[in-house]
Amino acid sequence: MLLHTDGPPLRILFVTPECAPWIKTGGLGDVSLALPRALAALGHDVKLLMPAYGELRTPPGEGRLLVRHAAAHPWPAWQVVDAGDAVREEHGFSLLLLDCPERYYRPGNPYLDEHGRDHADNAQRFALLAHAAASLSGIPQGPQGWHPQVVHGNDWPCGLLPGYLDHYARGTGLPRPASLFTVHNLAFQGLFPLELAPELAVPQAWLQPQGAEFWGQLSFMKAGLRFADLLTAVSPTYAREIQLEPLGFGLQDLLASRAGSLQGILNGIDPAVWNPATDTLIARRYDLDTLDAGKAANKAALQRRMGLPEAPTSMLLGMVSRLTEQKGVDLVLDRLPLLLELGAQLVVLGSGDPALEQRLREAAAAHPLHVAVKIGFDEALAHQVEAGADAFLMPSRFEPCGLNQMYSQAYGTPPIVHATGGLADSVVDLEESPRTATGFSFGADDAEALGQALQRAHAAWLQPQTWRNLQRNGMRRDFSWQASARAYVHAYRTLT
Ligand code: ADP
Repeated sequence: MLLHTDGPPLRILFVTPECAPWIKTGGLGDVSLALPRALAALGHDVKLLMPAYGELRTPPGEGRLLVRHAAAHPWPAWQVVDAGDAVREEHGFSLLLLDCPERYYRPGNPYLDEHGRDHADNAQRFALLAHAAASLSGIPQGPQGWHPQVVHGNDWPCGLLPGYLDHYARGTGLPRPASLFTVHNLAFQGLFPLELAPELAVPQAWLQPQGAEFWGQLSFMKAGLRFADLLTAVSPTYAREIQLEPLGFGLQDLLASRAGSLQGILNGIDPAVWNPATDTLIARRYDLDTLDAGKAANKAALQRRMGLPEAPTSMLLGMVSRLTEQKGVDLVLDRLPLLLELGAQLVVLGSGDPALEQRLREAAAAHPLHVAVKIGFDEALAHQVEAGADAFLMPSRFEPCGLNQMYSQAYGTPPIVHATGGLADSVVDLEESPRTATGFSFGADDAEALGQALQRAHAAWLQPQTWRNLQRNGMRRDFSWQASARAYVHAYRTLT
């Protein structure tokens, strides 16, 4: 169904290293499904290119071979398969799978091996993704019958793409599509030895500080930031933060010099997936009218599933997160005594840093009536935490956009967040605006500030009317992709 088109439809090639539901490690996986879907719903002609990893070896639906390239130095043989009509009918965009057995046929995480280490050939793997995207764009291999007007790359795995587009076009004299490059997380930069340049078809001219060289290494992220026509970051606050230390991670000056070409567009969430009224993964569905009963049933179910006492009078705090220093899990562990003092319960779902996993397991073992932890990736449980917790914890040290705080608002589960990046842009604090508030935010990224916010949240939770207000305000907010997709279309149009 076409919702609306403001102007003629655009041909957009969206390039990504991961896309839910096929393969997802974090927020980028969600965005990579939802944004192309929303763009297609606005009437645009969208194709999404991603590698055919192990799980995608047999493409979903009936694959149709689009292009095949024999090995040609420095690239191995590769082909692109259109995953077929079923995907197009369901999502509105075409899924193109980049097929190269020696680079992608590996199970599990798209970036890491079974020991949790980066694949040794990640530079080659993601350079090939960028190369294939540039080639599909009609340059230099000639028409494939479809030419994007805009090529949209995401994060460091697509960092070489804008430069390749430029470089290839210069070689042929052909017009090139416009390029937009989105920063989802600047902390991951894709740094590799400069010596790999010939193998990646990276021109010598890039290997200097004015190009993509970064402290003696080749930075895929820097290449994207340097050469894309337009840059976006995944929230307005994050777009400002990355122009300064410390969140610029050494690229702040480049970003500040490109401030005129850098904008922040807040991600949306997918209401088809994250909606308590239709969610089939939770114990009881609910909406604004059935909020109290729905939350109570989901809370009890979550407590049961996690082996905690079914205590309606204990505030249940939930957290779903990659377990890394970024996410501030250690701050929560630090404030455990306060949680226990308040009689609260804590459920954590996550995986990541083994030391943090171990500390969480120890906390659960030491306080089995109050703390329950599931280490691993569990989509259903993530939904159940959103639905069953009273409040959601997201004390991230930095957070480019963050999705969980938006999910939790949609589920009537007020978030407690550090006011950074997208958290600052999407959560209204109770003190800041009692009438429109949706949660709690705190300024400093330390355990003390988190503790104060926890105390405020607990006090508010004890006042049913105040709490219900927070819940209802959150549930009424529109975090759908439509508004964000329109902002991207606006950005694309400035380029075409
Ligand atoms: P990031 O992309 O930095 O990991 P976001 O909040 O933007 O953080 O997105 C995280 C996404 O991954 C959310 O959809 C969240 O529910 C999901 N997620 C993270 N860890 C887990 C887990 N252990 N199990 C299930 N889902 C998870």
